[in-house]
Amino acid sequence: MGCLNLRSIVQCPHCHFKVTERMSTTQQVREWQCPACHKSVQASPGACCIFCEYGTVPCPAVQQGKGAH
Ligand SMILES: [Zn+2]
Repeated sequence: MGCLNLRSIVQCPHCHFKVTERMSTTQQVREWQCPACHKSVQASPGACCIFCEYGTVPCPAVQQGKGAH
């Protein structure tokens, strides 16, 4: 197995602030709060998680080929 990249730069769709977030290998994150504008960001119904939708790096499950895609 290759090494997983657990850091993703998530860009807030509301204010476009970018923040580096550490991803969990066990939890799928479908909701995230922007630290800049404090608005809630939710993954779209068809998206795996906020990292796959708004981040620069897909979540660990997808990196391992276990994602829902
Ligand atoms: Zn924001």
